[in-house]
Amino acid sequence: MLKIGLTGGIASGKTTVSDHFSRLGVPVVDTDLISRELVQPGQPALGQIADRLGEEFILPDGHLDRPALRRHVFSRPEARRILEDILHPAIRRETERRLKEITGIPYALVVIPLLVEKRLQDMVDRILVVDIPEELQIRRLCQRDGISSTEAERILQAQANRQQRLKAADDIIDNTGDPASLPARVHTLHDYYLSLATGGN
Ligand code: ADP
Repeated sequence: MLKIGLTGGIASGKTTVSDHFSRLGVPVVDTDLISRELVQPGQPALGQIADRLGEEFILPDGHLDRPALRRHVFSRPEARRILEDILHPAIRRETERRLKEITGIPYALVVIPLLVEKRLQDMVDRILVVDIPEELQIRRLCQRDGISSTEAERILQAQANRQQRLKAADDIIDNTGDPASLPARVHTLHDYYLSLATGGN
């Protein structure tokens, strides 16, 4: 199974792009989704978070208080490391498990938003970066999430920059232009990945 890691900054268009691959029948494993599922009530990772970081991050209804935990680890590298030590191995295991279950197609897309930041290159065979200029990223982020440009800039600051991501890329989707141009670009990459996965070129 050829694993294509899809990454890109926030609001660069990862979901939009992965939806196009999905429409072509490509299995998509979304590590963001997995990380949310792993902290649902009853999951072992949630218990570990409570044990190691504090019961106060569990809401009375048993769910994780995500905003409180995010604020807590934001300025505490040690707490962040503990959280990552709990979540990263579990995310890897679950991603591998889902990839193993896939049959009938020789490649899959693994969406890893923080692939570059967290140095998760080894999880995949190839890296596909969705790329847009930072000004456009801020504009789309503000529009999508209804936040101020100051807040959007703050979020971007905490992520890898465009150059760092492009340096890690094997393939790039330029998502600057009309979204109508995406299906053709995705189709070309799809054919390419199929040929790579089946040993052609
Ligand atoms: P991500 O998953 O990387 O955070 P999204 O796929 O949610 O990004 O895209 C961010 C926002 O930009 C969404 O509102 C989406 O509809 C919009 N968008 C994506 N691609 C384009 C494009 N080529 N032109 C204009 N808007 C776009």
